[in-house]
Amino acid sequence: MAYLHDHGYTPLTLEAFIRLLEGDRSEKSPEKPVLLTFDDGYLDNYEEAMPILAKYGFPATLFVSPGMTEQDGYLNWEQIKKMQAGGWDIQPHGMSHPHLPKLSADEQAYEIVEARKQIEERLGTKADIFCYPYGEYNKTTLKLLQHHGFRYAFTIDQGFATNEQSPYLLKRIFVNGEENLNAFAAKLPKLK
Ligand SMILES: [Zn+2]
Repeated sequence: MAYLHDHGYTPLTLEAFIRLLEGDRSEKSPEKPVLLTFDDGYLDNYEEAMPILAKYGFPATLFVSPGMTEQDGYLNWEQIKKMQAGGWDIQPHGMSHPHLPKLSADEQAYEIVEARKQIEERLGTKADIFCYPYGEYNKTTLKLLQHHGFRYAFTIDQGFATNEQSPYLLKRIFVNGEENLNAFAAKLPKLK
């Protein structure tokens, strides 16, 4: 985060990211926009990441599996609410973090729709941006997202998200917490 800050990167809220992606001209793009995403809802997102992001005033997006909350090592809803209040966008990552392609259409629908419902009910915000557990999806998954009105979905396909990608196949760059700063910096877009 210090590297991003010192090199002029601007983390975006999810909605600002979407407005940029959609080419909304009223949204003034920072020189080096980034979207910081965290998957699964681990407790260290609250204990470690949130204070660091707060120090820099960086927003972030959390993709959480509601069925895994309130367990050892995972966030509880009180913590998630505090993260939301601190500028995090909270979005669904399946109810139980399943391998979606292994499930029937009905089971997939439950995983996708129930996760959104629980987040929306508990937090009072829209949760229509999906993130595939394990990055796995099939044709049924894509149809379900469309049928249920999801706007975007994130994969773990490596690369930068652009509006030339399908809205349900947005790419991301995986950041390995064990690699050094140079390796991290080398993955960043070479923007002017
Ligand atoms: Zn995950």
